[in-house]
Amino acid sequence: MIITGYRTRKNALGQLMYTCDKCQQRTYHTFIRTRRSFTVFWIPLFPLAKTTTTRCNVCGFQTYFDNKKADEYFPQAGKQEGHADHS
Ligand SMILES: [Zn+2]
Repeated sequence: MIITGYRTRKNALGQLMYTCDKCQQRTYHTFIRTRRSFTVFWIPLFPLAKTTTTRCNVCGFQTYFDNKKADEYFPQAGKQEGHADHS
């Protein structure tokens, strides 16, 4: 019997200041990277989906954000995502 499942991991990439769409205040937004992986016996085998969301630190308003742009804004955070590629 093979036990399969999914694992969702979240980590904060960093924060940027811009005007919130909802509360219209110029405030910091937290960028959160969510990665969903397929697991076999609770070991993540391969990633299924990667999304980035931003959350307004004042009103909590959340929106999706482009992954590539987020990687450009936070290149260090992107490198910590576990790719064993040191070239
Ligand atoms: Zn807001």
